[in-house]
Amino acid sequence: MPTELQPAISRIASVNPATGEVLGELDCAGPTEVRAGVARARAAQPGWNAWGIRNRVKVLRRFQQLLLTRKADVARRITQEAGKPYVESLLTEVLVVLDAARFLVENAYSLLREEKLQHGNPALKAKSGRILREPYGVIGIISPWNYPFSIPATEVMAALVAGNAVVLKPSEFTPLIALELQSLLREAGVPNDVFHVLPGEGAAGAALVKSEIDKLVFTGSVATGRRIAQVAAEALLPVVLELGGKDPMIVLEDADVDVASSAAVWGAFVNAGQACLSVERCYVHQKLYARFVDACAEKARKLRVGNGMDLATDVGPMIGEQQVRIVEAHIAEARIHSARIMTGGTRLRELGPTFFAPTVLADVDHNMRVMREETFGPVLPIASFGDDVEAVRLANDCDYGLAASVWTRDRNRGEDVARQIHAGTVMVNDVLSCFSISEAPHGGVKASGFGRTHGRWGLEEMVRVKYLDSDRLRGMKKIWWFGYGEEFAREMESFLDAIFARPWRLRVRAALRAGSALWRRKL
Ligand code: NAD
Repeated sequence: MPTELQPAISRIASVNPATGEVLGELDCAGPTEVRAGVARARAAQPGWNAWGIRNRVKVLRRFQQLLLTRKADVARRITQEAGKPYVESLLTEVLVVLDAARFLVENAYSLLREEKLQHGNPALKAKSGRILREPYGVIGIISPWNYPFSIPATEVMAALVAGNAVVLKPSEFTPLIALELQSLLREAGVPNDVFHVLPGEGAAGAALVKSEIDKLVFTGSVATGRRIAQVAAEALLPVVLELGGKDPMIVLEDADVDVASSAAVWGAFVNAGQACLSVERCYVHQKLYARFVDACAEKARKLRVGNGMDLATDVGPMIGEQQVRIVEAHIAEARIHSARIMTGGTRLRELGPTFFAPTVLADVDHNMRVMREETFGPVLPIASFGDDVEAVRLANDCDYGLAASVWTRDRNRGEDVARQIHAGTVMVNDVLSCFSISEAPHGGVKASGFGRTHGRWGLEEMVRVKYLDSDRLRGMKKIWWFGYGEEFAREMESFLDAIFARPWRLRVRAALRAGSALWRRKL
């Protein structure tokens, strides 16, 4: 019986969204556990940093090989907990992590090592400058359920290899796969206190934000991101925010309809549309519109919806009731405003409560919720446009700016349009796969957040840059120290001319005038 002093420990259940089976139950970390976890991580971090980067790289290499050996088990666990088809678990989760490990193994040393900094200012040439990249200390990571392995794993690996300790609060929907990540990393050699997972709901995340962490990497919704940013601002806690998206797909009039419609269908329905980089709205040139809509509807009808463990399944269940209701609300509103449902539009209750039919909507307009708010479900709304200028305007008239795609047979034209779109990533003739390019930065603009994960930019988020300045003329007082006066002021005017004046001969004369300052008496 809990007393007033000992509140009941709340528990979370991990449930298979395809079957309703309870996969496991766990205690939620409360503020006490979070503080204790962060304190243990802090105590362990200096030792981990002292291992040196080459040893930490060896640990990542071992982790990569362990994951490769266990790929099928890990992928099955992801499918059971998050619902996505097994092949997607392999390709969009396990493969992404294997390759991110490869990138860090190959590049972490050269990207993080000390770097000499050349000085251009002649007055400061006698100094030797170096850039040091030091770990923050303890990095807090809060992650969502939709890519429950690849999102936290890529961030955790970057933080660890840079010498940080990490505390991860995974989504309450997918704690088991996070614990799997923890056990793989520990087996590979990461000391227990250097990385741990604290399961729990939003409250555990909120406690982590308020704890003694040195930096936070958050991936999730805009609403939660805003709340976190407010708390972080108060504490001046640096944060990376990877938030939602409403990614537009622009199909120009010279695009290949067959290829682009297949891309739209995959981009909108992969992971049942629950990807931050999903095709959330599609703009098609009016000349192709009717053909494109028909092709998408026909392909969407052929998708096999079911349990992701069945290898023939294309689209699995959605994660939960709340998410399904958002999808239903967006479709209902679009319907009232005369959008046409070309296929889908309803739950597939015979399969289970959160299975939803892949839905293609035509004749949507730019002001509908389904075109403006993140739907995060298997819905492909398609609108038309008249010319490139209009397409760019529609794409940019949005609160979000995570990614976008442009479809055309003319790559130059596609790249030209891509440059005009406000987003963290724009792909020409592809969707979503940018997330699996370990070298490429991932992150958004506008409400999609700030900061970057992945690639060298993701690694740089995990370190503080320190400038080390070492003066070679240790026995000499600096020219600019006290003991100013009329003469010194004139000399310094000449000195500025000596550095910056044009043409060159003016500089030489000015340098001669300024030179006497070298022998000036200083305090
Ligand atoms: P969410 O914001 O509901 O939850 C994300 C995480 O934050 C969870 O671990 C949750 O427990 C935790 N949390 C909730 N309230 C909190 C609080 N007050 N303080 C601290 N932590 C708190 O998001 P979700 O439903 O898990 O994920 C879906 C969202 O994530 C979508 O909007 C999607 O676009 C976005 N997302 C973005 C990216 C990206 O890289 N930009 C990637 C994947 C998902």
